[in-house]
Amino acid sequence: MSNIEVASTDIVLPLPTSVDADVAADIEKESVFVSPHVERIFVEPDGRSVRVVLKERAPTEEVRDKATRYLDVMARQVSGFDTKVFLENKRQDKGPYLADANLRLVEQGWLHDYGKGQVAYSGPVLKLAGLISDKAGELYAATLGAKDGQFPALVDAEILHKCGYFDSHPNAVTFVGNVIEDFDAIEAFRQANSCSEGALLPQPDHVHVDGMCLNPAACFPCYPTMTGRTLQTGECHSWLGRVFRYESRNISGLDRLYEFNVRELVFVGTDEFTRECRGKALKIVNELIAFFDLDAVVQTATDPFFATVSAAKKFWQQAQEVKNEILIPVAKQDGSRKVLACGSINLHGNFFGTKFDISCDDGEPAHTGCVGLGIERWVLACFSQHSLDPKRWPAAVREQIF
Ligand code: ATP
Ligand code: ZN
Ligand code: MG
Repeated sequence: MSNIEVASTDIVLPLPTSVDADVAADIEKESVFVSPHVERIFVEPDGRSVRVVLKERAPTEEVRDKATRYLDVMARQVSGFDTKVFLENKRQDKGPYLADANLRLVEQGWLHDYGKGQVAYSGPVLKLAGLISDKAGELYAATLGAKDGQFPALVDAEILHKCGYFDSHPNAVTFVGNVIEDFDAIEAFRQANSCSEGALLPQPDHVHVDGMCLNPAACFPCYPTMTGRTLQTGECHSWLGRVFRYESRNISGLDRLYEFNVRELVFVGTDEFTRECRGKALKIVNELIAFFDLDAVVQTATDPFFATVSAAKKFWQQAQEVKNEILIPVAKQDGSRKVLACGSINLHGNFFGTKFDISCDDGEPAHTGCVGLGIERWVLACFSQHSLDPKRWPAAVREQIF
């Protein structure tokens, strides 16, 4: 197949193999990480070729080569698995979905979007966020005896490395940088800013990155606290964690933030214990969906691992049904629907138990699993499905948030 030039700002490339809608969506989403010269990559409706939208003055040949290698790994992901649906709920509220709930919440003065993937919120948005997290926490405590905790927002690169994060999502990591411990460098930085209009960043060789990162998955900081322990049967922990993911140009409203909150549940113990916990957690998720009266499904899913590791990991995940996702529909700006992944229910096998030296009293490494609920996505889904009209909300929720 030959490559057809469309316009000076677009390249059309064939895909090495045709792709289904899920893989096409991953290719488009991760395309912001392909090259600084690429605006975005779009998969053509037939799933056989893509359009690479270039930025001005892009070196076409260099981009063509990079994009070709990217497409090569992404397109070879295993696709076409049967998805297994674990539960499905239909809401009682029969009113229409609210289009562009993000903007409506800003207009209400309940949401402030800083524009870089961070938000501030107050009023009913804040109360709803608290209610979602607290309600989940109460149910986890009552049913699973989950203990409360508090974990830092910074995480050591050594921990992320042990968790395999650099291997699976290298594009999403944020490293913390500090001005080097050097009198002249600190003084240069101070002086540059003392009379400047805007913020001037220190020159790159005056910044050191020593391996502290912003935590990209709620459960990671929990495992090192259990190192060296031997558990009987198992135990559960649940807390509200702050999570950071570098989503580049994909950031958008409450649905794709750089910094967000996750109500996390972690279960650690024997294989049997973690499977039982997953079953109980699924029932709790069902209860939450009903409490907030949402259209939703929970089904098998895969992680959109970054390019080169995609194929192998996806296969492993779906074949073993280790990741289930809570999918909740919302209305987009134009009123059409899209589905938001509002949480995931995962089994990790003995991966973390082995890496962090946590064992069970049978002498085997502990198994683990986790459930992460993306609070801001749940908030967006609730407002999208029940609108700003308090009358349409379930009474138990309405009383607490409006
Ligand atoms: P996506 O495919 O949308 O990027 P993910 O597979 O990366 O989601 P998980 O790793 O399963 O998501 O994270 C757990 C939960 O955290 C998600 O189900 C979602 O609710 C939430 N979440 C993930 N990324 C973001 C984000 N950038 N902004 C807001 N919430 C997020
Ligand atoms: Zn987790
Ligand atoms: Mg993601």
